[in-house]
Amino acid sequence: MILSDFHVHTRYCDGKNSPEEIIIEAISRGMKKLGFSGHSYTSFDEEPCMSVTGTERYKEEINALKEKYASQIKIFCGTEQDYYSDFPAEGFDYIIGSVHYVLIDGEYICVEHTDEIFTRLIHVCHDDVYEAAEKYFATVADVVRKTNADIIGHFDVITRLNRGSKFFDENNPRYVAAWTSAIDELLKTGKPFEINMGGVARGYKDFPYPSRPMLKYIAEHGGSVILSSDAHVKENLMYKFAEYEELALSMGLKVVEL
Ligand SMILES: [Zn+2]
Ligand SMILES: [Zn+2]
Repeated sequence: MILSDFHVHTRYCDGKNSPEEIIIEAISRGMKKLGFSGHSYTSFDEEPCMSVTGTERYKEEINALKEKYASQIKIFCGTEQDYYSDFPAEGFDYIIGSVHYVLIDGEYICVEHTDEIFTRLIHVCHDDVYEAAEKYFATVADVVRKTNADIIGHFDVITRLNRGSKFFDENNPRYVAAWTSAIDELLKTGKPFEINMGGVARGYKDFPYPSRPMLKYIAEHGGSVILSSDAHVKENLMYKFAEYEELALSMGLKVVEL
């Protein structure tokens, strides 16, 4: 049974709790390993990420807490490195590589924020949502090279706002071709894909990222997965991990930890 979680946000970015509050919760749940993954700095969208100076304070605080709680839990100081972050990720124990934006004609457009922004994305893609998906997955295909990631973050976060197929059909052949070629590229890296609970925990999604067909494809091609809560509140640590660990194993996926 997995008793670790490596995708956790604190007040240094858009999370609600301090690192120490989260550590105390993790210890009380019997967790063995806990990784913090503050959002890397993106100057074009400063609201959800750590500031430049905040990133340095974050490293200092997590590294101090690592020592303080060393006898009770193994703590990792990581980052969720956005594809378009201003700086390379340096001085961290591990990196989650994530794509939150596509870059079109100099404009960074978030794929998972609001319906209005998603509608804008479709518009700048010639009113073709599948063109938007193709651009998104072409970016994701390159995320390990660009971010030097150890973990592939929420592979299909572009579905976050798509409940009830509101914007696109996930069975559309162009959509399937786009994600298939991205998985093919990423499998070559040998890095695990997250099973990311963030959308489920926050009520956007009925199934984690990536979708069941994607997980099936990853399983059939020998890929591995890592369970991630993407918790922004301490209560969501290891959210539904037991259920999805069982599902992943039943699908033939290799479930790994750091
Ligand atoms: Zn993310
Ligand atoms: Zn995250």
